Amino acid sequence: SVMVGRRVRRKRAWRRVVRVLEELEEGCATPVGRLRQVVDAMAVEMHAGLVSEGGSKLKMLLTFVHNLPSGSEKGTYYALDLGGTYFRILRVQLGGQRSAVIGQDVDRRPIPQHLLTGTSEELFDFIASSLKDFVEREENVSERIPSERRELGFTFSFPVKQTSSSSGILIKWTKGFVIEDMVGRDVSECLQQAISKKGLDMRVNVLINDTVGTLAVGHYHDEDTVAAVIIGTGTNACYLERADAIIKCQRLLTMPGDLVVNMEWGNFWSSHLPRTSYDNDLDADSPNPYDQGFEKMISGMYLGDIVRRVILRMSEELDVFGLVSSKLHVPFILRTPLMAAMHEDDTPDFREVAKILRDTLEFSEIPLNVRKLVVRVCDVVTCRAARLAAAGIVGILKKIGRDGSGGIASGKNECASRSEMRRTVVAVEGGLYTNYTLFREYLNEAMTQILGEEIAPNVIIKVMEDGSGIGAALLAASHSTSSVDTVQ
Ligand code: BGC
Ligand code: MG
Repeated sequence: SVMVGRRVRRKRAWRRVVRVLEELEEGCATPVGRLRQVVDAMAVEMHAGLVSEGGSKLKMLLTFVHNLPSGSEKGTYYALDLGGTYFRILRVQLGGQRSAVIGQDVDRRPIPQHLLTGTSEELFDFIASSLKDFVEREENVSERIPSERRELGFTFSFPVKQTSSSSGILIKWTKGFVIEDMVGRDVSECLQQAISKKGLDMRVNVLINDTVGTLAVGHYHDEDTVAAVIIGTGTNACYLERADAIIKCQRLLTMPGDLVVNMEWGNFWSSHLPRTSYDNDLDADSPNPYDQGFEKMISGMYLGDIVRRVILRMSEELDVFGLVSSKLHVPFILRTPLMAAMHEDDTPDFREVAKILRDTLEFSEIPLNVRKLVVRVCDVVTCRAARLAAAGIVGILKKIGRDGSGGIASGKNECASRSEMRRTVVAVEGGLYTNYTLFREYLNEAMTQILGEEIAPNVIIKVMEDGSGIGAALLAASHSTSSVDTVQ
């Protein structure tokens, strides 16, 4: 009867665990009607952010980029891409004909963790030395004309208030970076000083957000590219907006043509977002509470930790998770790539799930039904993230009149009727979309559901591998004083 009692208790506990899952599913539900509300809210907030400074949680930052690369850029340019889990140094040789990137060297390395919370001097000193090493290793001494100064495009993937196309002030940190003395300072200047201190002859001639680099490369390869989205460690988007729609900036009102706007959509907020208590807890425990709400539901920095929080909650009901010995209490211990690996585990009996739970969380033996439960949690969390990102993209399309509905864009509509909808390309970069198949499939599926079968084929999502870095090199070229020519 002791045995029976235990079995009954286990059964009840299991039922409570299933209830936790069901509540999660309800909380994270994204039926297409709700996604459409998010689409509308995104378009409305974009508009509000363009009307006045501080008019929306979307900052809608001006980038000063209107010369997107034309294809005629020539020469060797450097780029530095900082802002995610890795930083990259690139050296790109441009041949002067469209799509002719003739040579490219890339160095990718993780940013040492302690630098994320140190001083700006330490961070930039480290970057400048890496840059110097790279230059010395890659450069063929004989091919270089010593009088020519090296030019660098700097991709800095945080919210920056640009003061020109080559300078800007850090507004705030995101993605776990906390280097207080940097906020409010000119980012290019910090890098330039560090470079000069190392005795390296190199000029920072463009400063861009990663979304802008991705848009530049996308546009270089395909002129129908109107927006770029990053879904990696963090998430954000930029797009081409008509200059006269940027009402908050008086001097642009009479300017012809388009400008790139960095939305900083990671900070998007709407009451239509499907929120759970796990999201609220994650936010409260983060270094930037009440900030980047959309990002914390979507990007790679956070998804694994949402899953960890749900499993922790479940383990309070059922001790099979091995709560006592496990590392479940350690924030961010379950990284998103591991979560993806569990989610996409196709081994018999979910052996990979068991292995990851054992290796990272120090769980003991995990019964099959618990493994399945964990996979289900990953599925719910990723599905919500991917569908919200899709709604964000359609929100942009709606704002510029490319969603097939006629748009809320001020003045003329870009497409008169559904059948005339123009081909529209969105460039995408970031590990979640490129490396996580189920995420990508959920996002694509949601795009079709929101846009409808008729419109969806006109919208093409194109992956830009290393786009943010190569884009910086391209923009360094098109903003170079020595470049052959630039086209408006
Ligand atoms: C930053 C953006 C960046 C995005 C993707 C966000 O946390 O605020 O500037 O584009 O991450 O890297
Ligand atoms: Mg990046």
